[in-house]
Amino acid sequence: MNVFLQAIIHYNIIDKMLNIVLFGPPGAGKGTQSQKLVDTFKLVHLSTGDIFRYNIKNSTELGILAKSFMDKGNLVPDEVTINMLEAEVLKYPDAKGFIFDGFPRTIAQAEALDKFLESNNTSISLMLALQVDEEELISRLLLRGKDSGRADDTDESIIRNRIKVYNEQTAVAADFYNKQGKFHSINGVGSIDDIFERLSSIIVEKNR
Ligand code: AMP
Repeated sequence: MNVFLQAIIHYNIIDKMLNIVLFGPPGAGKGTQSQKLVDTFKLVHLSTGDIFRYNIKNSTELGILAKSFMDKGNLVPDEVTINMLEAEVLKYPDAKGFIFDGFPRTIAQAEALDKFLESNNTSISLMLALQVDEEELISRLLLRGKDSGRADDTDESIIRNRIKVYNEQTAVAADFYNKQGKFHSINGVGSIDDIFERLSSIIVEKNR
């Protein structure tokens, strides 16, 4: 049977929430794959980057604060990000599950997320980590920068800093989930559909 159909059918009979951390460096394809996963598995997509950009667009206090970090390619402080994410999750009491895209990005965020989900009687089901090499990431981001309107995608030194921040502060979050037996590495190079099939197969396999 087609893996997508299998996934939909299967998901409809699993009764616990499906909470996925979609992980990987900037430019790995998290946003693109999240959209496809949301459509298939009927999950709520929470991208902390998107939420920050929405706040920047609306000139909120949070947006002004976040912009000062984002423009340099640095992380927004943990406390601000964690509070924002938790408030977003609580907006969807009927969700079948969430795709966390761009969160957690530090160990402190991963620990806070675990605690928060536990207090809401749920947990992370799995982390799916997209692997793409650095030069491919840079060329993808520069290409995206041509029409995304994202300042942090147009300047190569900011892109390189984002990747450095990922390597130094974020990559360790993979160990956090690896220790819990929830980490899965996926080759993030190939067609959008092929990568989606790789992700879906793991979700279906893990929920069998
Ligand atoms: P993204 O859209 O995921 O590439 O995120 C864009 C920018 O938003 C990042 O470079 C950070 O400055 C900020 N950001 C997004 N998510 C987080 C997070 N979980 N923790 C801290 N900063 C974040």
